[in-house]
Amino acid sequence: MSTNFRPSDLVPAGFVAERITHIDDETCILLSRAGATASCPACGRMSRTVRSRYCRQVADLPLSGRRVRLLVRTRRFTCDAVLCGRQIFAERFGDVLPPYARRTGRLEHLVHHLALALGGRPAARFAQRLMLPVSNDTLLRVIRRQGSPPSIPPSVIGIDDWAWQRNHRYGTIVCDLERRRPIRLLPDREPATAEAWLRGNPQIQIIARDRGGAYGLAAAKALPDAVQVADRWHLMENASRAFLDAVRKSMRQIRKTLGATRVNPKLLTAAERLQYQGYLRREQTNAVIMAFAKDGATIKEIVRRTGHSRGLVRQVLRGQRNDVFRSRESSLENYLGWLDAQWAAGKRNATELWRRLRIQGFRGSRRVVSEWATRRKRADKADAETLNRIPSARTIARLLTTNRDNPTKSETVTIAAIEGGVPLLIKARDIIADFHRMIRRKAENELAPWIDRARESLVASFANGVAKDIQAVRAAIVSPWSNGQTEGQITKLKLVRRQMYGRGKLDLLQARLIGAT
Ligand SMILES: [Zn+2]
Repeated sequence: MSTNFRPSDLVPAGFVAERITHIDDETCILLSRAGATASCPACGRMSRTVRSRYCRQVADLPLSGRRVRLLVRTRRFTCDAVLCGRQIFAERFGDVLPPYARRTGRLEHLVHHLALALGGRPAARFAQRLMLPVSNDTLLRVIRRQGSPPSIPPSVIGIDDWAWQRNHRYGTIVCDLERRRPIRLLPDREPATAEAWLRGNPQIQIIARDRGGAYGLAAAKALPDAVQVADRWHLMENASRAFLDAVRKSMRQIRKTLGATRVNPKLLTAAERLQYQGYLRREQTNAVIMAFAKDGATIKEIVRRTGHSRGLVRQVLRGQRNDVFRSRESSLENYLGWLDAQWAAGKRNATELWRRLRIQGFRGSRRVVSEWATRRKRADKADAETLNRIPSARTIARLLTTNRDNPTKSETVTIAAIEGGVPLLIKARDIIADFHRMIRRKAENELAPWIDRARESLVASFANGVAKDIQAVRAAIVSPWSNGQTEGQITKLKLVRRQMYGRGKLDLLQARLIGAT
């Protein structure tokens, strides 16, 4: 199929291409408007009286790898209407070529989206490759000029803070939860700022926000009739954190439960012996520090006199450094001395060692010996560290909650020991699990009894917090709205900010975030 090519097909609709010339890597197209009339911008009356002409120069989309400059022949008309104040007007080209614009509407659109997607400097570099003649400053100006698309006044919002600089400076983001888009960035997270913005939006009916904190107060002051919804995700997180705190509080008991075995250093393998020596050293250090503390020495003094770090001294004084040493019971215990000697003499074949052990009366299987040999090899690599350690509070919290389905053998032993030895912690775990379930199943009627039960447990302070914010928590259980998507928008915001190398001003950031969605 063949089509007749007309130069006018290259230029915006409604124009006629009169002449095309190439100068270096630029294509110049001389244009004029088809049609003999134009309407007066002041009164709307059509006029056909051309008074003069001039030429506008504007940039357009690139063509075959060349930049394009349009020379638009523009007519000045005389308005014939008797009462019109405007006597002379230049013809207008609508969105195709707005008055005073230096780029066609279609180029401006492209430039705007390029700037939204990439930000100023990267977009300028990319634009150069695309033969779009725009500078970094122009791109930023375009973003500012185009501004944010007008948004419909929201009635359901999510509000949360985000970090300009971590732990240093924060801003606030407001999202329209119904339309799933960010609508406003505020320069800080002060209650007064949020309150002022909320007052300007009295149509808002539902406010999803983080639990407690400033936004709740601001919303209560500005829009007392709006329903506040505590954020479900944060509620779940806070509950999990409360359990982790309970585990931390119980660590002393957990250690006692997990490490009840006494140790005979003679029976240890070389690796275990190394570890045991470390353990003894630590115990000794602990005893020295505790003795100083008993005499009434301050932390500073103890640091000075023992030479240990301040962190370590504090850990010991808080009782967070009572580790326990355990070794595995083994049928090999009576033969360890002989095995060590053989090993030292270079006889390291596990099968051979096992045969000779059997002659000495060892009843165990070959596997026991080969496992010993493997451990021994590891010890030779001085990898003594990982043997028989008490898991961290975080690990224990995970073992007791999320990781319960597929525990390894040693994890099962750990869990069983804790379940037997620290019943209060297990009770706290079940209370937190019930809380999660209640939120997930939207079982609002369980909330009051749950609070009563939790207040008597290791997670009492979390329960008290929930009780203090009970309206919003109840709303979080029954309401379909949640701040979850606001979190997603914050992630997007961080991405945009990173592209701006952290230098973005709030209005630019807002234009890019809101314009891009
Ligand atoms: Zn007129």
